Amino acid sequence: MENSSTVFDVIVVGAGVMGSSTAYQTAKRGLKTLLLEQFDFLHHRGSSHGESRTIRATYPEDYYPPMVIESSRLWEEAQAEIGYKVYFKTTQFDMGPSDNKSLQAVVSSCRKNSIPFRVLQGDEVFKEYSGLFQLPEGWIGVATQDGGVLKPTKAVAMFQTLALRHGAVLRDGTEVVNIEKDKENGEIVVCAREGGHFRSRKCVITAGSWTKSLVGKVRGLILPIQPLETSVIYWKINPGHEDKFTIENGFPTFASYGDPYIYGTPALEFPGLIKIPVHGGRACEPNERTWAPDQETVETLREWIKGRFGEAVDSDKPVQTQSCMYSMTPDGDFVIDFLGGEFGEDAVVAGGFSGHGFKMAPVVGRIAAEMVATGVAGGVDLTCFRIARFEENFRGNFKDFEDQVRSR
Ligand SMILES: Cc1cc2nc3c(=O)[nH]c(=O)nc-3n(C[C@H](O)[C@H](O)[C@H](O)COP(=O)(O)OP(=O)(O)OC[C@H]3O[C@@H](n4cnc5c(N)ncnc54)[C@H](O)[C@@H]3O)c2cc1C
Repeated sequence: MENSSTVFDVIVVGAGVMGSSTAYQTAKRGLKTLLLEQFDFLHHRGSSHGESRTIRATYPEDYYPPMVIESSRLWEEAQAEIGYKVYFKTTQFDMGPSDNKSLQAVVSSCRKNSIPFRVLQGDEVFKEYSGLFQLPEGWIGVATQDGGVLKPTKAVAMFQTLALRHGAVLRDGTEVVNIEKDKENGEIVVCAREGGHFRSRKCVITAGSWTKSLVGKVRGLILPIQPLETSVIYWKINPGHEDKFTIENGFPTFASYGDPYIYGTPALEFPGLIKIPVHGGRACEPNERTWAPDQETVETLREWIKGRFGEAVDSDKPVQTQSCMYSMTPDGDFVIDFLGGEFGEDAVVAGGFSGHGFKMAPVVGRIAAEMVATGVAGGVDLTCFRIARFEENFRGNFKDFEDQVRSR
């Protein structure tokens, strides 16, 4: 295929969840699509691998819930098309000090977006979740319907399979080292490390933690996307309590607001284990990581687990950890924009998903596909995701609830 006369309609660079979902969406629209990945497909060196991700409609920013609602519908459509499940629905429970600005913003964003919610006091929380969540004095809970668990590796495989079914060409072990514009015919030339190149009319860059270096090389534009090394952490549920933490018995996906922001999912992927990590991580180079959990984070989690779940969960030490990466922007908001420069609207960059993008993969794929197909993404305002926001203010979008943004 290298240096062949094939001119693709779209080349997607990076086959994490965003690139795979985008390739599915472009191929489905009948665009001749090539998806390129530097490592093996379904590798564990980026952000989209593992056993679980949370989907929830509760966000302090009021522009995310409509995207979650669309994504939720698209997740269901994709799993119906493939014929197996990647999306396990449950409820969502958010908690934190009643004066926490992010949590207050969650409540007003639910109100603005007509998302039904209930604010619960400590004793009501105790009743609602059969005594499992113990809230400190002065904390409140916010219960909503739209929570759930997504299976990341299985979901990426699903999008890749669907992309293939719709005629996309998928190729791994192909690191893109440059992307150029052919001035003679306007085509995009995507150059691989091995020396070959591929041609297309449009291009989408979904390179996760490598976005900053690739965009820097291609356009000389420094996007403030910082890779962070983080850990997924599993804890053992004490004998006799295992069933209480399952989706079948009404256990929710949850988040605890404040510094740090802690989140978790029901016991699902490993029976008898519950995932409770901290949102955030240590700055890293994507190709140089420790692969080890941060001990301070583990200590913080031990205290939190003891306080919230008492004897139901063994807070002594984690029983399993997995390394992963966030690609963090200063404001925690995504970057979804045309690349500009000599590429104008022929290339789209979708990155900086800041540790909360997985749930949005279907809608991001839909948006990126529409941007390359028609130049406009319908039904969504991309103002908060523009690259230019960092030129206007190096910290990006202003937020009134800094605690949440810092912890991301
Ligand atoms: C521990 C953890 C927990 C999370 N929890 C949640 C959650 O509960 N809910 C939620 O919504 N989100 C969550 N997220 C965030 C979510 O997983 C990410 O936002 C999402 O996976 C980002 O996907 P991506 O495709 O942008 O990046 P990646 O998955 O990193 O994919 C980018 C791909 O591009 C490839 N690539 C890069 N450069 C090149 C190149 N030059 N040539 C070819 N290929 C290249 C990389 O190898 C990689 O495969 C979590 C993330 C982590 C790490």
